[in-house]
Amino acid sequence: MKRILVTGGAGFIGSHLCTRLIKEGNIVICLDNFFTGSKENISHLTGHPRFELIEHDIINPFWTDVDEIYNLACPASPIHYQHDAIKTAKTAVFGTFNMLGLAKRNRAKILQASTSEVYGDPLSHPQREGDWGNVNPIGYRSCYDEGKRCAETLCMDYYRQHGVRVKIIRIFNTYGPNMLPDDGRVISNFVVQALQDKDITIYGDGKQTRSFQYIDDLVEGMIRMMATEDHFTGPVNIGNPCEFSIFELARKVLELTGSYSDIIFKPLPHDDPRQRRPDITLAKEKLAWEPHVHLEVGLMKVIDYFKSVLAK
Ligand code: NAD
Ligand code: UDP
Repeated sequence: MKRILVTGGAGFIGSHLCTRLIKEGNIVICLDNFFTGSKENISHLTGHPRFELIEHDIINPFWTDVDEIYNLACPASPIHYQHDAIKTAKTAVFGTFNMLGLAKRNRAKILQASTSEVYGDPLSHPQREGDWGNVNPIGYRSCYDEGKRCAETLCMDYYRQHGVRVKIIRIFNTYGPNMLPDDGRVISNFVVQALQDKDITIYGDGKQTRSFQYIDDLVEGMIRMMATEDHFTGPVNIGNPCEFSIFELARKVLELTGSYSDIIFKPLPHDDPRQRRPDITLAKEKLAWEPHVHLEVGLMKVIDYFKSVLAK
């Protein structure tokens, strides 16, 4: 039985990860400041003898005995991470710094939830781990993109200087139950709009692309990454290589919900990447991992989830 710390454990991804880790028989300590996470996401775990929830902000140090750390705490939706850009950068940088210090003291493994945003508006396609990215260092997205890039740097320096067993994954757009209805990300926006017969808001011309991964596939990839041999640090892309334009996504959501919504076009946010698709060769090779959930199947699960949320 391992003692595992999950920062951001009450958020969308964190709540699914905590559930899986508890199911596997571990002791799970969930750390969250509830900025975008909620107690409801983990209500099925509260009271479980192997689950502990601690309200804590990771920009402040935290000490406990642990075997593994999954560092997920950080707002992930553009509207949330831009709400207090300085706090986002502090969370990504000071928070990761604190968690690396904890990993060092405990000789624990630490998995860093990095992001496809480190590639910025990518110059090569699909994105490979060796690509250095094309990121605006002074834009509205920079607090997140550059914060996460600096977090990767810290991980590699702790690995080289102190031998900390770091595991970096670059997560591509992920969706599933427990996303907030007003999260602002495209799948939650479109599904909630469609279910309410409200206008579907496409930003820009809708020709920009993303590759959408269902949450269960991501959690499997995270667990496999944590289990890799000590000297394997990554980074590894974890995402679904099936690429769709945002316009295609809107049409799919309309079709699957049977909605009467209209599609409308709104201005494209600053520095919105034009295309994104992971090359997952490394994940296949090192983790024997690839995603299995097709977009239509995952979308139906999310549609059912948001139906139940909206009915409350
Ligand atoms: P989320 O916003 O649902 O979850 C983030 C969690 O972190 C929330 O529970 C929030 O309350 C908590 N948090 C934020 N700042 C904190 C702080 N300073 N101290 C303690 N807790 C804090 O987002 P998510 O989609 O679950 O993302 C989780 C992680 O995965 C993030 O690090 C994000 O950058 C990364 N990621 C997510 C995606 C995606 O598509 N969902 C893609 C790439 C990377
Ligand atoms: N987007 C959109 N309408 C929305 C929300 C997002 O057209 O209501 C677009 C957004 O401009 C981007 C894509 O969908 O091109 C994915 O946005 P999201 O915020 O989900 O993720 P990210 O841009 O961080 O990949």
